[in-house]
Amino acid sequence: MQLFIAGGCGDEGRNCFYVEGDRHAFIVDAGTSTDGLDRIPDLTPEQIHKAEYLFITHSHRDHTGAIEYLVKQGFEGPVLMSNQTYRQLHYKPWNTMILDSTAPELELEPGFRVKWGRTGHCAGAVWFHIFVEGRSLFFSGDYRENDTFYRCDAVRGLHADMAVIDAAYSRMDRGRDLRRQVADTASSLMKDGAPLLLPVPHYGRGLSMGILFHETFGRDHGIYMSPKLYDEWLHLGHRKYFVHDEITELPFSIFQRWDNETIEKENIYFLTDAQLSRASSRQLILDHPDMGVLLTGSIHGYGKARCFFQTGRAKFALWPNHLTWQEMEDLKAENDMPLVVPFHNKKVKPENDTFIF
Ligand SMILES: [Zn+2]
Ligand SMILES: [Zn+2]
Repeated sequence: MQLFIAGGCGDEGRNCFYVEGDRHAFIVDAGTSTDGLDRIPDLTPEQIHKAEYLFITHSHRDHTGAIEYLVKQGFEGPVLMSNQTYRQLHYKPWNTMILDSTAPELELEPGFRVKWGRTGHCAGAVWFHIFVEGRSLFFSGDYRENDTFYRCDAVRGLHADMAVIDAAYSRMDRGRDLRRQVADTASSLMKDGAPLLLPVPHYGRGLSMGILFHETFGRDHGIYMSPKLYDEWLHLGHRKYFVHDEITELPFSIFQRWDNETIEKENIYFLTDAQLSRASSRQLILDHPDMGVLLTGSIHGYGKARCFFQTGRAKFALWPNHLTWQEMEDLKAENDMPLVVPFHNKKVKPENDTFIF
């Protein structure tokens, strides 16, 4: 059996893995690159035709941006994903197979089955453990244990002949250290009552950071969210399947709906425009010179977040919704995984793009 890296290792986004055995072939994730070039995975037309299934870990475009391309190139098999992932996708493939969250195990064919669990990265994000032709493969997807908001089905004691594990951050500390740095940076930017703006994606870390700020600052700072993020809060905040029990006990009123315009002293504003791609987002920053701006995720090649960071107008503190290199090592040690391919790391690329196992 072989695994072919079609993107996502030593790359910016473009996560895509092709697996082929004697009888079966499948693809896990089909992302485009986040360097502004929207590069597609390195799959040949033969591989696309041969693949029987496409497994999607979650909705982010570095995992889904090329689904439409694969379908246009003639991929006809089922596309497996959670219902939340389906809800969040712009392009919804006609042949989607929704994973049933009440029974996280599915036999696709005799001798070919899959298990999955929540990764804690965003709503609907899953890891896959795939059993085929007497081998098993683990794909962590974008993985984060102990998130402040999302639940994760932590992977322990699992055996996989081949494992592809998130190792997005090249650092040797852990999530809690990073969360502390985000809280400290936010605090220092709000000195003297300055308001704080946090550009975030629609789906993902915004709600997790909101919870951290609520826990850290209590009611000292009002927490406002762009309508789309606030709707996510109403949609997910009291659903035990997605969030920790403690979260479901918090009143919805700990966060407020924001009109994306009004800025008042001491308040924290979550803006759903992570890369500051919209002119209105940039104008808001220019109109409020005292407001702190804190970037907390990858600064991509598209959008203008990069310019604000480079001129010093925006500060950066990484919010952990992936694994650090240390945590990838931790996960390896907690499981039986003789062959691990770290992915999602810009700088680390294995010597070969094909693994036989
Ligand atoms: Zn992601
Ligand atoms: Zn990703």
